[in-house]
Amino acid sequence: MSELFSRRTALAGGIGLASGMGLLASETLARAAGYQEDQNVHAPGGPVARSLAASVGKGAEYSLPPLPYAFDALEPSIDAETMRLHHDKHHAAYVKGANEALAKLADTREGKLDPSALSELTEKLTFNLSGHLLHSVFWAIMGTGGREPVGELAADIQQQFGSHAKFKAQFSAVATQVQGNGWGVLAYEPISERLIVLQARNHQLNVAWNAIPLLVIDVWEHAYYLKYKNVRPDYVKAFWSVVNWGAVNQWYGLIKRTHQDPAHEEHGH
Ligand code: MN
Repeated sequence: MSELFSRRTALAGGIGLASGMGLLASETLARAAGYQEDQNVHAPGGPVARSLAASVGKGAEYSLPPLPYAFDALEPSIDAETMRLHHDKHHAAYVKGANEALAKLADTREGKLDPSALSELTEKLTFNLSGHLLHSVFWAIMGTGGREPVGELAADIQQQFGSHAKFKAQFSAVATQVQGNGWGVLAYEPISERLIVLQARNHQLNVAWNAIPLLVIDVWEHAYYLKYKNVRPDYVKAFWSVVNWGAVNQWYGLIKRTHQDPAHEEHGH
């Protein structure tokens, strides 16, 4: 695990972790997260930055970040068996799928595969990479901690949504209303410096360019069916009791400052 958490590993790739989704370069993530062996939980960026930095490994291949708590830590809201399958099987499959897509795209460029598969491979990359990143954020914004928004994020939610209750009602409804598989997402839109709630289908559809996920809920059936069966609203309600608002606020602070402070853009254009 210390290998996964090492700054050196996180930096090995030196590529943007998710430039397509407007997240941060892995180097920026690692630096801003104070990403060191001591795993300082109070470092800027917090658990989300650490999880994303651990989402890319040696040779810039994507890798499965460790769950930052025990499988049963979210009981009774989310059961241990669901967490184990979800992290070890489902999330791992997205990591594998993203790496496979990249390898096949490279093979196609080298003439080893038929270019007629490029569309399919590109979609495979988009789907699996988006799934990988959303799950990496999802694990890190849950756990123990406050049960209401805190800090700068709390103030901005209050100002932009009218109240925490109005935000929660909108987010819960959006998540509950996803048709089929998808996500509810609170995102930061850096052009207007605004918080927006999005509804992703699958992992990658119906999303806004440049919006950065802050708080996400997975509403694929694999996220809740063992315990909640078809009753998604009960799962969404239970989700609120395991949100680590401190982690969300730390991540928000890093994202906001990075997009507002030119000093963070030394690796930009
Ligand atoms: Mn999932």
